Amino acid sequence: MARIELIDVVKRFKGETVIPNLNLTIREGSFTVLVGPSGCGKSTTLRMIAGLERQTSGDIRIDGELVNDTEPGKRDVAMVFQNYALYPNMTVRGNIEFGLKNRGVPKRERERLIRDICEIAGLTPYLDKKPQSLSGGQRQRVALARAMVKNPKVFILDEPLSNLDAKLRGQMRTELIELHKRLGTTFVYVTHDQVEAMSMGDRIVVMNKGEVMQAAPPMVLYEDPDNLFTAQFIGTPPMNVLPASRLPGLRTEGEGHAEFVGFRPEHALLSPETAELTREGLVIAGQIATRESLGAEQVYKLRCEAGSFFVKSFLNPYVGGDFALAVVPFERLYFFDRDG
Ligand code: ADP
Repeated sequence: MARIELIDVVKRFKGETVIPNLNLTIREGSFTVLVGPSGCGKSTTLRMIAGLERQTSGDIRIDGELVNDTEPGKRDVAMVFQNYALYPNMTVRGNIEFGLKNRGVPKRERERLIRDICEIAGLTPYLDKKPQSLSGGQRQRVALARAMVKNPKVFILDEPLSNLDAKLRGQMRTELIELHKRLGTTFVYVTHDQVEAMSMGDRIVVMNKGEVMQAAPPMVLYEDPDNLFTAQFIGTPPMNVLPASRLPGLRTEGEGHAEFVGFRPEHALLSPETAELTREGLVIAGQIATRESLGAEQVYKLRCEAGSFFVKSFLNPYVGGDFALAVVPFERLYFFDRDG
């Protein structure tokens, strides 16, 4: 278990600033997920923690110890990559054993460790197989086993599930969450997929353009986003955001100062009635543009004066072209300025 601190970390590649100034503490024993759009600096951050990339300036500490000049092999950090990075000419046993041999672990001890780890990872039947004869999920387990057997202080996982099909990905997510619980080791996990982040992390770091937009537990990001970026990154579909000046119903609430109004698609109700709704919440008149059925739930896209927005609903009476009123309880509204 280890706490990781990045203090005033700057990273430039050939003069181009990718990370302007990163300050981040990854808590000991947490399952921390770095999430953000492609190119925002997630992998670079991971690689700097692992020591595979040197920061241009700033400090990195693992368990309080400055590791700026510590080579990757000495940081006690194990990495699992998207492409597994297995040795193709070695068996499963050989792949897992390799790092142990390098560290001078005696043969009997190696055999015991491999046996235990393969039991945990469900790899016992495949010990003598080569990677190319294994499925994607099995290869991913070998990569994990190889990392686990070193008993590192920190696990670093860079989009480890992105090469798996949807079903296996779901299964491996659960396995990784259980593995983290069992080991209690600090996990730092990178993904561009907010659903994966929300379902796996106990702490999520939302990144954009090399900066931390918000770092918080998943429900805090969902319920209390600090800024427009986080609000619009988290959720499926993400939060609706409309310009406040084009929502006349708001003015009566005295919230006319903020530039944007946000609400989650699941917090709007659709109603065909005009009735007395304005007392209950913000009423937006719109027309159904599209309807996507998720089975029990429908996702409607509506167009209104102020733009378009989504409503998630268990009701199914609307079709494209229908007019409807979306009602959002006042307490479910969020207010943002452009810069947060
Ligand atoms: P993410 O993991 O969020 O997709 P990366 O950390 O891989 O983002 O990349 C962040 C930015 O740094 C990108 O613009 C990428 O092109 C650039 N970058 C990453 N590695 C290098 C490198 N070795 N040389 C030059 N530019 C790089």
